[in-house]
Amino acid sequence: MSHAVRKPGASEQQVVAWLPEEWRARMTEWGEPAFRAQQIFQWIHKQGVLDVEHMSNLSRPLRARLLEHGLRSPLVEEMVRRSADGTRKLLLRLDDGLAIECVMIPRAHLQDLHDEDEEDDEDEGTSEQERAERPVTLCISTQVGCAMGCVFCASGQAGLKRGLGAHEVIAQFLHARRHLDAGERIKNIVFMGMGEPLHHYTETARTIRLLTHPAGAGLSPRRITVSTVGLIRGIQKLGEDFGGKIGLAISLHAPDHATRSSIIPMNESQPLAELVEALRRYPLPKRRRITIEYTLIAGVNDQVAHARRLVQALRGLPIKVNLIPMNPIAASSLRAPEQQAVEAFRRELAQLRVSCSVRATRGDDVDAACGQLALNAPAPGAGSRSLRDQLLSGHGS
Ligand code: SAH
Repeated sequence: MSHAVRKPGASEQQVVAWLPEEWRARMTEWGEPAFRAQQIFQWIHKQGVLDVEHMSNLSRPLRARLLEHGLRSPLVEEMVRRSADGTRKLLLRLDDGLAIECVMIPRAHLQDLHDEDEEDDEDEGTSEQERAERPVTLCISTQVGCAMGCVFCASGQAGLKRGLGAHEVIAQFLHARRHLDAGERIKNIVFMGMGEPLHHYTETARTIRLLTHPAGAGLSPRRITVSTVGLIRGIQKLGEDFGGKIGLAISLHAPDHATRSSIIPMNESQPLAELVEALRRYPLPKRRRITIEYTLIAGVNDQVAHARRLVQALRGLPIKVNLIPMNPIAASSLRAPEQQAVEAFRRELAQLRVSCSVRATRGDDVDAACGQLALNAPAPGAGSRSLRDQLLSGHGS
């Protein structure tokens, strides 16, 4: 079992992550007609079929060849947990024994991640049937653990085990789709699970290409949000490669260099001022906003003065702030502020006319910390609220 950091190059991509043009090149090489490329891509990404035996319009020899090339799911579903509110969490086991998780959240629970006013203009042109569907947001992981080292984050404190290949990231979507209820559809993807999506930019970009390809799932790029600690080069590339259409959530967590460096070690090499400049250059379409994630930590970044400085530092940027009272983690004694401090911080932002929401915290269950469930590969029944509560539950305010 190897836990070494792996950065597969394009040529080493696993077949599940091949794009249609790569399939076409391979079909030519194998002496197969070009339309097979489209058929295979559709089986995988439109139908979600990863078992070659079910690819009924392909010849037996071709199916055998695909199997030889490793066409199968790169992970197994170890556990699917469903809470009363419809949230579903999948614990997935990778080939090398490591575990990851992804979470499916029905729209009703997601006011803080998606603005209603941004949702509608894009729905033009969608069919009657699509409008009737109940949207689900999927939160996916890009790494096992994380190398960024944020002091309040369980994944950061655990360190990086390895980055996921695009095939392992897309497989979370392909598997999650099998757990939709009738009438539901995965409409939004947030790269907000374990790991730093811009650390392995190539894999994240490939996953986005797969998700948005019209021959596959055909998701709208505007429905995809990448959450990052603020890797400047990655933000710039994301803007260039996708024309600013991919949503950005920035884990800012502090309004000034010193405070930010004390909780986010990456801030030393990716200074706040330069990060903010990179955000100003991001080619964001009109009417869209960048989400600023702000984990509130008692005695660190939770004063009203911090709120004021935050607004100053981001002046002129189209933003919405998402306040996240820190969830306790075993690796740190840092804690969320008292409720009044959270409220005072929120009120200050509102007074300064910054759009703002607060994610609810649930209990002090240490198992509920970010990514800890997958990191610890728990027994069924343990820590059932981790990622969802950590990252996604909450209410607009
Ligand atoms: N690497 C990406 C995704 C991380 S997880 C990023 O940094 O954005 C998504 C969010 O949860 C981030 O904003 C992260 O800082 C936050 N987070 C991590 N641990 C937390 C904790 N214990 N309490 C509250 N928020 C936390």
